[in-house]
Amino acid sequence: MLENRQADVTILGAGIIGLCCALSLQKRGLSVELIDRKGPGEETSYGNAGVISPWSTVPQCMPGVWKQVPKWLIDPLGPVRFRWQYLDHLIPWAFRFFCNTSPGRVKAISAVMALLMNNNITAYRELLKNTGQEHLLLDSWFINVFKAKSQPKLNDLTWRLRIEQGAPVEIIGQQQLKEIEPAISDDYDNAVIIKGQARAFSPGALCKALAEKAMNQGASFKQADIKKLELSAEGNYHLVTPEKEIRAKRLILCAGIWSSELLKPFDFKLPLIAERGYHLEFLNPGVEINNSIQDVASKFIVSSMSNGIRSAGTSEFAAIDAPPNYRRSDILKPLTKRLLPALNINQTKKWMGIRPSFPDNLPVIDRIPQMCNLYAAFGHSHYGLGMAPATGEIMAELITDKAASPTNFAISIQRFT
Ligand SMILES: Cc1cc2nc3c(=O)[nH]c(=O)nc-3n(C[C@H](O)[C@H](O)[C@H](O)COP(=O)(O)OP(=O)(O)OC[C@H]3O[C@@H](n4cnc5c(N)ncnc54)[C@H](O)[C@@H]3O)c2cc1C
Repeated sequence: MLENRQADVTILGAGIIGLCCALSLQKRGLSVELIDRKGPGEETSYGNAGVISPWSTVPQCMPGVWKQVPKWLIDPLGPVRFRWQYLDHLIPWAFRFFCNTSPGRVKAISAVMALLMNNNITAYRELLKNTGQEHLLLDSWFINVFKAKSQPKLNDLTWRLRIEQGAPVEIIGQQQLKEIEPAISDDYDNAVIIKGQARAFSPGALCKALAEKAMNQGASFKQADIKKLELSAEGNYHLVTPEKEIRAKRLILCAGIWSSELLKPFDFKLPLIAERGYHLEFLNPGVEINNSIQDVASKFIVSSMSNGIRSAGTSEFAAIDAPPNYRRSDILKPLTKRLLPALNINQTKKWMGIRPSFPDNLPVIDRIPQMCNLYAAFGHSHYGLGMAPATGEIMAELITDKAASPTNFAISIQRFT
């Protein structure tokens, strides 16, 4: 059965990226249909750490990162793991990743990240206006905590990049740290704080609120598991499910990690890797924290959210459909207890999600070359929540201006073809 759809634009994937694309298109008067096999915001966009910052501009591919990897891999509580079965995917990707770690490349990548993060807090406030869900965005600082003896240095590239971009960064000692976050252990005796940030009180609820807004403005939502994309003779796309085909005049792929599989029949092989992350929620935590807190050495982020305290992080490179390894969530229990000694750890909830990661940590936001009316917005790795509003705007400009490609080559698909 072929369903005839009249929406100006069909968006496959109702995560935070698809939803922001939908709202930006609606702002320009276009009608939108969203398709997802689940409800809006129920995959990677559900379980992230909730950090929304104009200063999330430091990529993972930092100089010298390769020296840390062996240490991380042998530490049972370490932040990185890979599965042997995924090694044939990981090695070529890692080679390209390490090619991006020179200071020059990192600075160039960081500048593009700054453009994609620019104005994100104001943009979310605007998107949430009049939804009745404005409380889902909270003002926040980003508190990067260090244990005694590991003093942060603001002339390290990690901080320099942000400072040069205008971030209000300062080092504080233990006394000030305890005034800001009384629940933190005395083992942490200094911190770098970045002010002027925000955090999502519930990233999943934020997605639901944006989806509801899009639907109140006339968007339709269809729950369907798309198995294949086909290009028709008339230049439309058919989104094929076992039961039916959905027709799309113009299609944006916002399917996160699942996007590159859908493009393979059209001969696009993109270096997109599944970088899985985990979280552990402490449901009756007995303590509260006021900001996003990152344990810099162990690379996890903790935040008070609607369900309690969420501790999120870790990178695990494994096949998209490999079963979750919830030991990666479990390691967050001793780590978070070490950070917040009064935390009640008796009631927890585990989660795994998949970051769609390119080796330069930047997404693709582009028209697909040689494919009339097919667009891509995916690959936002660790930063999709922060980059989603700008992604929506760039995509809407591409579609309405009919530009051949984004002005910035660093986010074009052609950098990989
Ligand atoms: C542990 C962790 C912490 C993170 N913390 C942060 C943070 O603090 N700040 C930040 O900015 N970013 C963070 N991120 C990254 C951020 O969550 C992601 O970059 C972002 O959610 C990606 O959004 P998306 O819409 O591209 O993907 P998704 O949310 O995965 O959405 C893709 C959607 O497409 C649908 N779909 C896919 N294939 C099909 C198909 N064939 N048919 C139908 N539907 C389909 C899926 O069901 C899904 O809903 C974190 C990620 C993790 C894992």
